[in-house]
Amino acid sequence: MPPPSYCRACGAPIRWTITEKRKRLAVDLEPDPNGNTAVSRDGRGVWLSRRPTEELPVAPFEKLHTPHVATCQPPEPEPTRCLGLVSLGDDRRTRGGAR
Ligand SMILES: [Zn+2]
Repeated sequence: MPPPSYCRACGAPIRWTITEKRKRLAVDLEPDPNGNTAVSRDGRGVWLSRRPTEELPVAPFEKLHTPHVATCQPPEPEPTRCLGLVSLGDDRRTRGGAR
């Protein structure tokens, strides 16, 4: 099992898949029975995703996942800090290491 990737916006573990249209689609790492994307792994270890249809429903070797865009919740942007209060943490470390 390759290590998961992490969403750059919210940090959640995701899995990159290739859609039938050869596009990259990130899905949530954990399968979701209510998801709308069927994910499977081909013989080369590539994760593939597709939309199940009536003609081709989810196969036993596929798992339903939710596309990560549907669940991505980036944290609120940090409030602007007052410039009168500056953290000296990094500054001190740099100076100490110079000696
Ligand atoms: Zn995200």
